[in-house]
Amino acid sequence: SLTIGIVGLPNVGKSTLFNALTKNDVLAANYPFATIEPNVGVVGVPDPRLDRLAEVFGSQKTIPATVSFVDIAGIVRGASEGQGLGNKFLANIRESDAICQVIRVFTDPDVVHVEGKVDPADDIETINTELVLADMQTLEKAVPRLEKESRKDKDRKVLHDAAVAAQAVLDEGKTLFSAGVDPESLRELSLLTTKPFLYVFNVDADELANEATLDELRALVAPAEAIFLDAQTESELIELPADEAAELLASIGQDEPGLDQLAKVGFRTLGLQTYLTAGPKESRAWTIPVGATAPEAAGVIHTDFQRGFIKAEIVGFDQLMEAGSMAEAKSRGWVRIEGKDYVMADGDVVEFRFNV
Ligand code: GDP
Repeated sequence: SLTIGIVGLPNVGKSTLFNALTKNDVLAANYPFATIEPNVGVVGVPDPRLDRLAEVFGSQKTIPATVSFVDIAGIVRGASEGQGLGNKFLANIRESDAICQVIRVFTDPDVVHVEGKVDPADDIETINTELVLADMQTLEKAVPRLEKESRKDKDRKVLHDAAVAAQAVLDEGKTLFSAGVDPESLRELSLLTTKPFLYVFNVDADELANEATLDELRALVAPAEAIFLDAQTESELIELPADEAAELLASIGQDEPGLDQLAKVGFRTLGLQTYLTAGPKESRAWTIPVGATAPEAAGVIHTDFQRGFIKAEIVGFDQLMEAGSMAEAKSRGWVRIEGKDYVMADGDVVEFRFNV
């Protein structure tokens, strides 16, 4: 499944955030036989539609879609030159599908900042530079080879030209993602900065409601998505019963834990969406890429469902709620029969028909 790598300078609150993420782990609850890896946190994507489905269908439980976060240890200035954990670090990022940088905004005289001062713009620049330098090195090696190959093979010229264009972007100090470069055109080269980025600003709790500060920070990373949270508060929230957690959140002017926002934004950043199934046993969200067809969606439940796919009975979530029951939705003619070319929409409530 797709994963988001968490990066950031030392002492910015990565471990604090990651520990909160792993305590929120949904694997233990819903997938008893899953292997739980120490550096991976699998969190549920909050989806209020599931509770409403469960009411309509009398489901015993709900199972949300998930997003996986990988803790990628210590990037420091010079990582691209193989200092410290450099090479292992870069390999771990290469395996991630998106990159989430945690940035320190909180002030605490007891927590040393590696660069001597709290400066979000500077920290973002430091990490970007390391990733950009790593990609420049990759391309410096690849371009001469691609040039040779493209003399004999026209197809290789396409990749060669894309690589040269990428070099020009990196030379300006920009990530390929921020410049809008299509990752597919460079896939073979496993570059780092084509991956989607998102940013978590670790802010003092009393700054979370300060819109002026948040706007300033948001502007540093736009159009990438920004999430604001206080990692220390998140780690406390996760230990509290629901009612006390709600009280603590309210006391800092928030209506949703930062981890929930992170799960939702992360899911979206990965280019994923969900369709829904419902019955007396469970109401469940299933993860598919945007653009997936009905048989591909069926294959997420079981490969046999994809192979033996006949058709799908589909009703949009909102229409189903308006009808109030599946029977009523059917009698109103809102449940459609879709074939193998149907492209799934987010929130489709589905029943598959298939041969086994
Ligand atoms: P990492 O090196 O990025 O993994 O950072 P850690 O999560 O280990 O945090 C470094 C130190 O900062 C620890 O002492 C944390 O308790 C503290 N810390 C983390 N997040 C916050 C925060 O939001 N506010 C404050 N005041 N301290 C924090």
